[in-house]
Amino acid sequence: MTLTRRGFLKLSATAALTTAFGGIGLAARPEKAKAAMDRIAQLKPEWSKQTTSICCYCAVGCGLLVNTALSGTKRAINIEGDPDHPINEGALCPKGASIYQLTEGTPGQVNPRLQKVMYRKPYGTKWEVKSWDWALDRIAGNIKRDRDATFALKNAKGQTVNRCEGLASVGSAAFDSEECWAYQAFLRSLGLTFIEHQARICHSASVAALAESFGRGAMTNHWIDIKNSDCILIMGSNAAETHPISFKWITRAQEKGATVIHVDPRFTRTSAKCDIYAPIRSGSDIAFLGGMINYILENDLIFKEYVLNYTNASFIVGDKYDFKDGMFSGFDEATGKYDKSKWAFALDEKGAPKRDNALADPRCVYQLMKKHYSRYTFKNVSAITGTPEDKLLTVYKAYTATGKPDKAGTELYAMGWTQHTVGVQNIRTMSIIQSLLGNMGVAGGGVNALRGEGNVQGSTDQALLYHIIPGYMPTPSTAQPKFDDYLKLIKPVSNDPKSLNWKKNYGKYAVSLLKSFYKNAEPAQAYDWMPKLDAGQNASWLVLFDEMFKGKFKGFFAWGMNPAVSGADSNKTRQALAKLDWMVNVNIFDNETGSFWHGPGMDPAKTKTEVFMLPCAVSTEKEGSITNSGRWMQWRYQGPKPLGDARPDGEIMYELAQKVRELYKKDGGAFPEPVLNMNWEDMGNGHEFDVHKTAKLINGYYLKDVEEKLPDGSVKVHKKGSQVQSFLFLKDDGSTACGNWIYSGSYVGPDPKDNRAAKRSKEQTPAQANVGLYPNWSWSWPVNRRIIYNRASVDQTGKPYAPQKALLAWNAAGKKWDIDVVDGGGAPGAIHPFIMQQHGMAALFGPGLNDGPFPEHYEPMNCPVSSHPFSKVLNNPAAVKFKGDKYDVCDPRFPFVCSTIRVAEHWQTGLMTRWQPWLLEAHPQMFCEMSEELAKLRGVKNGEKVILESGRGTNWAIAIVTKRLKPFIVQGNTVHQVCIPWHFGWRFPKDGGDAANLLTSAVGDANTSIPETKAFMVNVRKA
Ligand code: SF4
Repeated sequence: MTLTRRGFLKLSATAALTTAFGGIGLAARPEKAKAAMDRIAQLKPEWSKQTTSICCYCAVGCGLLVNTALSGTKRAINIEGDPDHPINEGALCPKGASIYQLTEGTPGQVNPRLQKVMYRKPYGTKWEVKSWDWALDRIAGNIKRDRDATFALKNAKGQTVNRCEGLASVGSAAFDSEECWAYQAFLRSLGLTFIEHQARICHSASVAALAESFGRGAMTNHWIDIKNSDCILIMGSNAAETHPISFKWITRAQEKGATVIHVDPRFTRTSAKCDIYAPIRSGSDIAFLGGMINYILENDLIFKEYVLNYTNASFIVGDKYDFKDGMFSGFDEATGKYDKSKWAFALDEKGAPKRDNALADPRCVYQLMKKHYSRYTFKNVSAITGTPEDKLLTVYKAYTATGKPDKAGTELYAMGWTQHTVGVQNIRTMSIIQSLLGNMGVAGGGVNALRGEGNVQGSTDQALLYHIIPGYMPTPSTAQPKFDDYLKLIKPVSNDPKSLNWKKNYGKYAVSLLKSFYKNAEPAQAYDWMPKLDAGQNASWLVLFDEMFKGKFKGFFAWGMNPAVSGADSNKTRQALAKLDWMVNVNIFDNETGSFWHGPGMDPAKTKTEVFMLPCAVSTEKEGSITNSGRWMQWRYQGPKPLGDARPDGEIMYELAQKVRELYKKDGGAFPEPVLNMNWEDMGNGHEFDVHKTAKLINGYYLKDVEEKLPDGSVKVHKKGSQVQSFLFLKDDGSTACGNWIYSGSYVGPDPKDNRAAKRSKEQTPAQANVGLYPNWSWSWPVNRRIIYNRASVDQTGKPYAPQKALLAWNAAGKKWDIDVVDGGGAPGAIHPFIMQQHGMAALFGPGLNDGPFPEHYEPMNCPVSSHPFSKVLNNPAAVKFKGDKYDVCDPRFPFVCSTIRVAEHWQTGLMTRWQPWLLEAHPQMFCEMSEELAKLRGVKNGEKVILESGRGTNWAIAIVTKRLKPFIVQGNTVHQVCIPWHFGWRFPKDGGDAANLLTSAVGDANTSIPETKAFMVNVRKA
């Protein structure tokens, strides 16, 4: 039977009347869903088991119910929204509602999932089916051969690096967090430094910007908290399509009177639900927001008490800082880098930053900021953004009204801000606005990065990235040859007694992490075994593929990823894959990366790369935790067993690691100690991966009996082998092992009932319920704190600024804080609220970034203008570029701005959604949205095929001629913009089109190298 999406919907509706399970998943009202579930519970069906899971797509983290047949096929028979889940309350978006099809395929049709191990030999022209044993043995052999051949004990300067130069990996946010941890441990034990995954190309800019501004790199609030907002600015996101269930909470706020604003190049489904819509040209967000900062400062709209006490507005900046003609002081033309020491604060005799609480000193942050943004006038901003001046004023007025103590405004953003050469500074600009308005650390506030992959928060936390190790500590480099050098780097010193300066504890976390890797080694020895970057080395995504293109790597893992579609400049990426000796591609479906050798422009007979395509389980078929955008660590249970020969990723990587270790045990090899000594026994039984053991290792445990003196003078003994209760108990004497300090407190005892990620109680106090904290549902890092920086929600006496939505209440009698878990201990006013910052303050001035302490508008590298209205510098001078690359600046061959977009029915590269007929029917092929004006100019009609061309490649698309896009007036000229989805690739469906990234440029942000795939230049012509 062939079932279309419409047929499926019809069938579901009918089934609702006739069966116990049907028809409650799609946009079900909670009460109806609940009633249906009650009916199901009464039936007590003995022919299926019901497990809970979490949606594998975006990081809203919606709950699922999975029913699996206990006999017969033993496959899933129904998957739908969990009505008990507090975020989605039973509702699912189209993708979530189609997870049944993702798992089981279409009833009556062959399931298109990978179900066998596939192998393509070098220069082969077809796939061969192989056994797991054969494939893992061969991959292990390849790893050992090439690791041994390319292992470097020293770099060219003779510095110790202990790293494997010939292997690289990308993946994966599709793993559960326990798998992420095991995978990074595996790669680091092999000595890899080129370790990257999705997070680099989606939200790496968020981590750097938010960490610089507030101390931590994560979404500050959480999904349900959006309901507490008085004004919601959605800019850099089309939340209604990319994070559909978020709108449940946006609408909840709107119903209570909140103003919802959408600023976007296109009038989208998000715009349609908003109170105010303002158009903006892609790539001009800093100008738009810089104008808002100017408006706030000119009209004295700041929340002054908050700004004085909780931000660095009053800090005095040292006299080497300067800004002139678009450049900050300290730029070195030869290296393309700034000397950031020029931007340091002036210190007093005690070593703390000098301050002027009157905010009058011309060298204080407040005055320097005022001067910087005075250039962002309505006229200048409008000339850059193309937003009419009256629209700017409407948005500025509405949003800055939240600068009152009892009001809160929130910002929701995603790729629209991150994927730019100024991605980090886009987010920094909003961080400044939120700090000026007192919107950080409060209910209904925050700068909220909408994470787009189910576990991309978790995979980032577990450090599947080249520049960090678990817990957001920097990767060791040659600048810290010894562990003592490393400890000096990671432990900042503050001389302000009110600054908690939490990072001073990092020594305990680093030692405990090294003990989790190598529990029988001394920390200094374990540190020596860690691979080291060269000082200042960039080993991020774009560099990785550039090095691959130049032939550096022999072997490569593309695990749970599809870089042939997701990477900027796809042609270059695909050619790079052909330079490899071998590649391991682990995925649910065949994809453009694993099949690159028979893709467009490839001749299999001339392509050497040996390819292993390994089938992995979908999320409903395995157990483990994932962390949603709001930092909720949620446990998923196994429903059906993996289909066919597919296996959970954890099982695959664990067995592969054991095979590699066996080879080293047997034959020896290059620098074998880290391979032989990695702590695999705490991740499994020596043969099989154990997700609970790994979760416990991540939480941390005692390696020996430890005595602890309690406040009443008594002594408590923590027994060897018992779990630590939180990171407060971690030690730097080698007595504790902890895989990730921020997750310490998540699994606090020996039994699964001690696994707090699995908690499903909706119990909360009236005050917690008032703001929707749900502290007993799942677990949130750190220490189950639901809103980070919450100490900024109260004044110096502990009084909430917004009593009607209080996050904290000081209990003077009990000398403790109630409602949420307070950020930092102590009495009201005792410490500064941003405890992860060296000086305890939100950073209006951020001297730690690579491209300036204040955000400045620079054009995208490929842009439609040749001049800047109030600066001599057009593009970000510190952007990450590659030798020989050219950019399209005011190039008449490529006159139109283009941006990549998403639709609700597809996800990321489309790898998972394109194979599902229910979803594909809604969006079957590549399209190009264009304005009626541009269509007229190019003689294109709605539905006709067009060709898009850029300096990197060409692509075809079906024209959607729409009023949703309008031309912009930029510096007096008409600028047209088009938008294309990035969900398509040549592999499937036939005639579906190919990757948007064929057109984009491999140029990166100055701080994180996130590629600029949201703004580039194209031509569009009729096919
Ligand atoms: S894709 Fe996101 S919004 Fe949709 S059901 Fe899944 S988690 Fe929820």
